[in-house]
Amino acid sequence: MIEVFLKPGREKTVRRKHPWIYSSAILSVKGEITSGEIVNVISSRNGFLGKGAINPKSSIRVRMWTHTDETVDEKFIHEKLRIAINFREKNIQILNTDCYRLVYAESDQIPGLIVDRYADYLVVQFLTAGIEGWRNVIINHLVELTSIRNIYERSDVDVRELEGLPKRKGILAGKAPPERIGIIENGIRYWVDIINGQKTGFYMDQRENRKTIQKFVNDKNVLDCFSYTGGMTLNALVGGAKHVLSMDSSKESLDMEQENIRLNNLDENRTESICADVFQELRKLRDQRRSFDVVILDPPKFAPTSAQVHAAARGYKDINLLGFKLLNHGGYLVTFSCSGGISRQIFQKIISDSALDAGVQASVIQTLSQSMDHPIALNFPEGEYLKGFICQVK
Ligand code: SAH
Repeated sequence: MIEVFLKPGREKTVRRKHPWIYSSAILSVKGEITSGEIVNVISSRNGFLGKGAINPKSSIRVRMWTHTDETVDEKFIHEKLRIAINFREKNIQILNTDCYRLVYAESDQIPGLIVDRYADYLVVQFLTAGIEGWRNVIINHLVELTSIRNIYERSDVDVRELEGLPKRKGILAGKAPPERIGIIENGIRYWVDIINGQKTGFYMDQRENRKTIQKFVNDKNVLDCFSYTGGMTLNALVGGAKHVLSMDSSKESLDMEQENIRLNNLDENRTESICADVFQELRKLRDQRRSFDVVILDPPKFAPTSAQVHAAARGYKDINLLGFKLLNHGGYLVTFSCSGGISRQIFQKIISDSALDAGVQASVIQTLSQSMDHPIALNFPEGEYLKGFICQVK
């Protein structure tokens, strides 16, 4: 087996079971490598540290699969999948949905693999060269472990390019998915398009936060920015909001939101939607002197990696400043960042700067994170990407 030797001192994070080894930590590689193959990782003092998948094209050169000297084979993969799936099954009562993440990559000790369940469909993403080689094994195991026969691939994501892999999507097992799949979350029903929807179809990482929003909206005037197919808007309506204005730049998403409102027999007369760029539209609302009791800001990822942090910070500052300005006295700003490159601390600083520039005094009254089916493994803090705050204006 190929051996990868680390530079002196660079074994520390591996011993703490962090799964990533950057190219800069590697002293030498003994043997001819092929992308994605399993290698032995050895410290500078010749100590065995574990096994991982190597990719010469990626700056994350090795992703660790195990820290013991065990065989990485079909049985190994089966056991990892079983543990991940079992963890969700044990928590199914709390999840309260048929739409959740079954496998969350590094956080479930299966680097590069995402598996989401949408009722009787699984949607899979193979994100790394290491996992790509195990496609067929994984498909077979998933069918066996979940008894779900229909699997669809959504590996049409940019991160595959960093791994030197082409984008892919299509049927992996069972029937072709229908144009839309019905799911239920917190007692609310949604249509999800797993073929063309964003991510794997639905932002399931916001499940608990959507439920939390219900508590803050009774009889309130709500603005839901970046509303997608209505996750937050529907919860606001269920929570008794007087009126919800939703905004998104995607017409298809807003159309789906309309259908979701009808699907749940919610009162369409209490809603309005605008298909527009939120950055521009917030300025218009400010100029029109519109105001709201609750403003929700759930933008897309502005900074996927730390390289885009500066530009992203400007974006967050802009919308949060405008969000604060649109709030009535005592109003709530519910604000999120799903950028991996922006830490919770930095995000809080941005929100604090936004309040200052908006000339409002506000406090964080609740902190929010990603759903429990997207666990943050203690050895892999990078698994935390969704940060949120509910701030109340004095
Ligand atoms: N809150 C949603 C998820 C939001 S995802 C839920 O609970 O399901 C982010 C959304 O922002 C996407 O629907 C995307 O279409 C939209 N979007 C991205 N950039 C935008 C922009 N500049 N203006 C308006 N919407 C935008």
